[in-house]
Amino acid sequence: MASVEEAVAELADLVAFPSVSREANAPIATHVGGRLEAAGFRVAYDPDETGTRMNVVASIGPDAEGGVVLCGHLDVVPASPERWEGDPFVLRREGERLIGRGAVDMKGFLACCLAMAPEFAAVAERLSVPVHYVFTFDEEVGSFGAAQVGAFLARTVKQPAIAVVGEPTEMRPISAHRGILELTTEVTGSAGHASQPVGRVNAAFYAARMVAHIAGRARALSESPAADTRFEPPWTTVSVGRIEGGEARNVIPDRCRFDWEIRPLPGADGRAVLQEILDWTTRELVAEMREIDPDAGISTEIVADCKGLALAPVSPAAQLIGQLWTNEPPRVTSFATDAGYLQEAGIDTVVFGPGSLAQMHQPEEHITLSELSDGLAFLSRLRAHLAG
Ligand SMILES: [Zn+2]
Repeated sequence: MASVEEAVAELADLVAFPSVSREANAPIATHVGGRLEAAGFRVAYDPDETGTRMNVVASIGPDAEGGVVLCGHLDVVPASPERWEGDPFVLRREGERLIGRGAVDMKGFLACCLAMAPEFAAVAERLSVPVHYVFTFDEEVGSFGAAQVGAFLARTVKQPAIAVVGEPTEMRPISAHRGILELTTEVTGSAGHASQPVGRVNAAFYAARMVAHIAGRARALSESPAADTRFEPPWTTVSVGRIEGGEARNVIPDRCRFDWEIRPLPGADGRAVLQEILDWTTRELVAEMREIDPDAGISTEIVADCKGLALAPVSPAAQLIGQLWTNEPPRVTSFATDAGYLQEAGIDTVVFGPGSLAQMHQPEEHITLSELSDGLAFLSRLRAHLAG
């Protein structure tokens, strides 16, 4: 098994790339690709349509069906330096803790994969099926890398069977999670003095009516919970998280915008919930607004549509975790990962990895040495399992 110090060194290198979502990611992608190529992996890059961000797909072992995918994301959430005691992009070691942006979410798992790469390569001839490292871009803003990687895998490797998404779950398996539809609505009205409302469209008034309708839908969904789900709460949730608009008390606002989301249960249709709300908006609000001012309107943008991970009746991926690590029954959660897209690509998927969920997206985010060493131990058992 690779030593924890090797994983720490890999982690320090990874944290040093400020690979914040939506930024060009060639520096970290080519660093990781270079490490894996040096270890003996077959490495390919899967760029987005702009060519500035890319997934890294690296394989070792036979060119065969039934491979095991180890999946992690290369991007991290932003870090506000004033909330950190040191540079968030320089790994700090304090006793057991390794502190840095992405240390736990999820460069810790990537570091374990990189540290174990030479060990997988050393048994490449004996591996019963290939091991594919699938490292994605822009997971944190809607799994954009994962959304395109299924098609890339279909073109470049034989169909894998199992995927482990190494998000920090404290080494406890998660076999289902909700999707998220992330939305931004922009209400356009007409500005004027508050004392002269005739012929003006007050964007705040119309935004408030739409928000009230959304709240009504959220309540209605909560009143018809699903009977056969382990999700808490057992219904599709809808929430408005942020509203902004207007300049002063005595000015009619010509603009009001709000961010909201729909988290469907796996299998539920979030798009249908959205469509009902948009149809109501067009019928009840936009028509009325346009009678006052033909330039007024309401537009809603889908910022991200992250797929849920549906619970599979029989899951070879969950069984693999049971065999190699823990008999604990898989849980379900309401946070989204890349897993839904791998499942869509026909790969049975489980979310399972080192580090604590509570550390995700926090200032002073950290992973501990013992958590890293658990990640290595799991990969080492996987290697022994596949090498016979
Ligand atoms: Zn993550």
